[in-house]
Amino acid sequence: MKLRTLTANAIAGKTVLLRTDFNVPFNKDEKSGKQKIADDRRLLLAKPTIDFLIKHKSKIVILSHLGRPQGKVVPELSMEPIANHLENLIQTKVRFVNDIVGEKAQTAVKNLKGGEILVLDNVRFHPGEKTNDEQFSKELSGLAEVYINEAFSAAHREHASVVGVAARLQSFAGFAFVQELESLQTMMINPRRPFVMVVGGAKISDKVAAVSHLTKIADVVLVGGGVANNFLKAEGINIANSYLQDSPADAKQEGSNFVEIAENLLHQTRQERMLKNGYIPLPKIIYPLDVIAAKSMEARTFRVVPFFSQRHTTADTLHTSETNDDDMFLDIGPSSIRLFRELVLEAGTVYWNGPLGVFEKDTFANGTKEVAQAIAKSAATTIVGGGDTLAAIAKFGLEGRFDHVSAAGGSALAFLSGKVLPGVACLLKE
Ligand code: AMP
Repeated sequence: MKLRTLTANAIAGKTVLLRTDFNVPFNKDEKSGKQKIADDRRLLLAKPTIDFLIKHKSKIVILSHLGRPQGKVVPELSMEPIANHLENLIQTKVRFVNDIVGEKAQTAVKNLKGGEILVLDNVRFHPGEKTNDEQFSKELSGLAEVYINEAFSAAHREHASVVGVAARLQSFAGFAFVQELESLQTMMINPRRPFVMVVGGAKISDKVAAVSHLTKIADVVLVGGGVANNFLKAEGINIANSYLQDSPADAKQEGSNFVEIAENLLHQTRQERMLKNGYIPLPKIIYPLDVIAAKSMEARTFRVVPFFSQRHTTADTLHTSETNDDDMFLDIGPSSIRLFRELVLEAGTVYWNGPLGVFEKDTFANGTKEVAQAIAKSAATTIVGGGDTLAAIAKFGLEGRFDHVSAAGGSALAFLSGKVLPGVACLLKE
């Protein structure tokens, strides 16, 4: 799978429609009481492509979505503050027009000179965006000569600004788009082995398709966080008051729930060859050997609850430990940390998605912190993804210590579950 990549020839001096994902979070500024951008990493991600276009004197028309305005103009979701922030960030004049394909936008595009930047308003203000409306795609593509997609995070959406325009103009993937796709693709097709996947977080629903698919590819899958509770429960362990996401509506329709899915994954992988790590065989899916249990997330006191020797075959008996009825499992325990660390340090590739405990609370942050530090230290190719994973990395001061940080969320998970993304398919080389 090779993408059409940018060349100077293709874009020099041309009017370029650059689709970005500037859907950034806002929070309230304490001093002024005004909304301000809380995290501008998505803007920075597009900077190398913007710099390249400036250098080659393209007329740059930036298009992005922000929030969910449902096809209507919602003034609070205007792109104007983002255009202003971008101007400061790249230290280059950035114009803004509160229009997308109308006369105002057309005139503003016509007035652009080589190397100048114009930000159009929120593409989701137009009802034709989400429906991939033909007329809207035509009008959008009429604004420019070349289309570049720098929004991998929107590549799973069949929207006008993702697929409709790409089909109508000479189109290419931006630098960050290419890097994201190549990192994920290499991991899926040709990972350096052993390939260790680390999965955590609370909601298993978002990740289950990617985890199921990657379990086939990875050598070891380390499970922590709330997700581990599904596996522990599947093993017949009393998880008491612990968080458990068991069945969303669509899983019920299929007549299954997440505990059953976890049980099936454990069963399938037990039929496979176990990983020979030099001295002992390990099961492919490893859930915590022990957990940190407390009465609530606010608790300052906790207990280590050890489990048993993990089951290696379907026939082994389990040695469950005592769980109190008011226990919540809120982090992985010290033996699990030791084992998880050792495995990521020995890995050739590590993919990590989801904190291993309630890392926001210092009492339950240890598992996530120590395993994150080991991943950062590992000589493996390291790929991390998921909003909370990135928040954990920032909290522990580990930014810049991983080979690839995926900010793409849903589209990355869709890609990792083996799906062909519409926004990728339309940028492939013949
Ligand atoms: P997700 O959005 O599914 O990746 O979940 C991230 C959230 O999972 C974080 O806010 C963590 O606090 C939470 N989390 C991690 N481990 C646990 C656990 N054992 N019980 C409850 N929540 C957890």
